[in-house]
Amino acid sequence: MQVIERPAQSILTEQRGGFLSSAPYPFTHTLSPYTGCGFGKTSCGTYCYAQFMPNWTHLPDRPAWGEAARVKSNAAEVLAATLEKMSPAKRAGLRIFMSSITDPYQPIEAKYEVTRACLDVFAQYDDLDLLVIQTRSPLVGRDLDRLATIPYAVLSMTIETDDQALLTRLGGGPAITKRFEVLREAKAAGLRTQVTVSPCLPYSPAFADALLALGADRLVVDDFLEGDGSGGNRTAQSPFAGVAGYNWRDSGSARALYESLAAHHPSVAWSAAGFCGIPPRQRTR
Ligand code: SF4
Repeated sequence: MQVIERPAQSILTEQRGGFLSSAPYPFTHTLSPYTGCGFGKTSCGTYCYAQFMPNWTHLPDRPAWGEAARVKSNAAEVLAATLEKMSPAKRAGLRIFMSSITDPYQPIEAKYEVTRACLDVFAQYDDLDLLVIQTRSPLVGRDLDRLATIPYAVLSMTIETDDQALLTRLGGGPAITKRFEVLREAKAAGLRTQVTVSPCLPYSPAFADALLALGADRLVVDDFLEGDGSGGNRTAQSPFAGVAGYNWRDSGSARALYESLAAHHPSVAWSAAGFCGIPPRQRTR
């Protein structure tokens, strides 16, 4: 994979409309330590909507999705400067989703540690409202100790199926067993955790029980129609549509999983309202 280190001018991207601005509790910003994603050649890369986003499609001499990534090498410094110059009142309103167009724990994070450095900056502030670390990578297990020092952090792990054979057929990706393992470690470490079945792929009858056994604080289920932000149009244009081998437009199994989970867990939500369903912190004055 081609890796380019390039400093960023800014690091927090304000959300004005779109999936992460949904009710009931929208995010205010996203933070992407990288542009492009090293998981782009795996199963999720076949349907990843980030490959259709302008910050990727407008790149000059754009490589194929998954073949290159830009490292925002100064992300932590820019973040530190941004948070420092904000008033405490403004910081208290920050609800940050890391990340929407890349995976903050993609393989090159093991070497570049840009996400880790950003966590070290967040750890210096206890007054933000929310930081969601959204990943499918067990590499986040490396930083559980750091996440534990950020009182507004939530580890959100994507587990789109329990069918490892299906995932392998579609191109692989981080092993499902390892994702479960990291979530169990995070829970044991006292972290707030969330599982996102997003988008829900075909799964076995044991999936719902396995998810519930994780004891996550929240579960979110999503399908391709609502989850790709375009009613399925992006998915239809993606390589996934040609390799899926099943009717991905049928949301019946995703809805059934949602119902099974909701019958046994108090905090299960659907699609955008699920991602944006973490209430503001309760603060004591
Ligand atoms: S990990 Fe996320 S950003 Fe990366 S290719 Fe997969 S879906 Fe896209």
